Amino acid sequence: MSREEQVVQRARTSFRAGRSRPLQHRRQQLKSLLSFLSERRRDIIDSSRRDLGKSDNGTELFEMLVLEVEIKLAIEKLAEWAAPRPVEKNLLTISDQVYVQPEPLGVVLIIGAWNYPWAVTLLPLVGAIAAGNAAVVKPSEVSSHSARVMEELLPLYLDKDLYPVVTGGMSETQELLKQRFDHIFFTGGSAVGKVVMKAAARHLTPVTLELGGKSPAYIDKNCDIAVACRRITWGKFVNCGQTCIAPDYILCEASIQDRVLEELKRSIKDFYTDDPKTFQDYGRIVNQRHFKRVLALMEGGTVAVGGDADESQCYIAPTVLKDVTGDSDVMKEEIFGPVLPVVSVSGVDEAIDFINEREKPLVIYVFSSDGKLIGRVKAETSSGSLLANDCLVHFTIPALPFGGVGNSGMGCYRGRHTFDRLSHLRSCLIKQLNLEAVNSLRYPPHTAGKLGWTRRLLLLQVKQGRLRRAALLAMMLSVAAFVVQRFLRRG
Ligand code: NAD
Repeated sequence: MSREEQVVQRARTSFRAGRSRPLQHRRQQLKSLLSFLSERRRDIIDSSRRDLGKSDNGTELFEMLVLEVEIKLAIEKLAEWAAPRPVEKNLLTISDQVYVQPEPLGVVLIIGAWNYPWAVTLLPLVGAIAAGNAAVVKPSEVSSHSARVMEELLPLYLDKDLYPVVTGGMSETQELLKQRFDHIFFTGGSAVGKVVMKAAARHLTPVTLELGGKSPAYIDKNCDIAVACRRITWGKFVNCGQTCIAPDYILCEASIQDRVLEELKRSIKDFYTDDPKTFQDYGRIVNQRHFKRVLALMEGGTVAVGGDADESQCYIAPTVLKDVTGDSDVMKEEIFGPVLPVVSVSGVDEAIDFINEREKPLVIYVFSSDGKLIGRVKAETSSGSLLANDCLVHFTIPALPFGGVGNSGMGCYRGRHTFDRLSHLRSCLIKQLNLEAVNSLRYPPHTAGKLGWTRRLLLLQVKQGRLRRAALLAMMLSVAAFVVQRFLRRG
């Protein structure tokens, strides 16, 4: 039996024993996860710096804070999320208990990406624990320092049978994917997403695919271009452009391109100084393979800002390319690096066509002072999320479902959305054995009279709790009496 098979089997045995289900256990594990974050802060920060050149405060801001908020929210709301959810009834079920009961799915596989190795791997785990599941956690081997810290230290805080960490690359992941899971939560690229979905299909396992793609930013000429460029600069170059929701490229009219380039240049200098290479808050490309991939995308492009690179440090300066066309190499795949192409369009109509001719993005950013124009972009395109006049900040709101559509992913998460995603929302109807007379409406023979009454009763939706119980019972009894008189006595 392979190591991966053993791990999954142990998780399943512990799940079947019911260990992960009690709310008290879920709360206690979530609190331990919080302790892990605070007590092992130094290890987490150091590993992120070694993997991606992130600064201490950068890791706290973009990885740990979002996790802390997510965990505290789950602890606070757990009882509410896990409680039965009463639903609207019809008159035929008015005296019954009708509700949705969230229940754990079983054993979840979480496969993480390397760009925010802590956040993208542990955020789904928060929801998996809250929903009462076991979860096998597979961090990316590319962010190897973070993966090692996760493997060594997380088991000191969490139940290691229920929430084991498995490290390794493609072969270990493929071995894991041969096992049977009850849900696979994958964060990564579309190509591997297809591999995951194919493997999941063998067991009919549901998947959540948090993928990437090319997220456009349209800058309307009717906007504060300086502010737009500042916000885009922040969203693009944080973590050296290795952010799934980074604006991948800019669309704007040719008449404002020079102004846009000038403002981008100014913001890059304001944020990262004249020498981003020595600036603490400017990161590095994760490895040489990705360094070479990003440099190759820049080939043949016209550099307007930046363009320096140093292979020995996997450093690429914040770079802006101008006069880029839709068919150039840099527009053919997700850049996932600090290179920002500016593509000219004739206006919002062409921008919308440009976006719609390509795969559905994870996010569409639109910068404009014109609410109608923002409304048009929203109505005439599709993407995982739409953000007007800012970048990235939608990720800070757990109430907003986060996820892609089409090629940018399927399923969404954050806060209660993760809880629901990793739960089975079980429909429950609990009836008593009395009031049998009412049921005669649906028993044969199916007369026109019975059909008419059933129709009336089913169409009259009653909000639970709106009518007082006594009134409801009275209504039920009169319906029963009527039915007995009208249908049963006649034989
Ligand atoms: P990736 O697809 O290369 O790898 C993701 C995971 O899959 C890793 O754990 C890796 O070990 C595993 N893996 C790689 N090849 C495999 C194979 N052939 N079979 C089985 N498993 C395999 O992605 P990445 O390079 O780690 O991350 C970058 C991508 O992730 C970008 O496209 C980015 O946009 C996306 N991303 C999306 C989100 C989101 O929330 N939507 C967040 C972060 C990153």
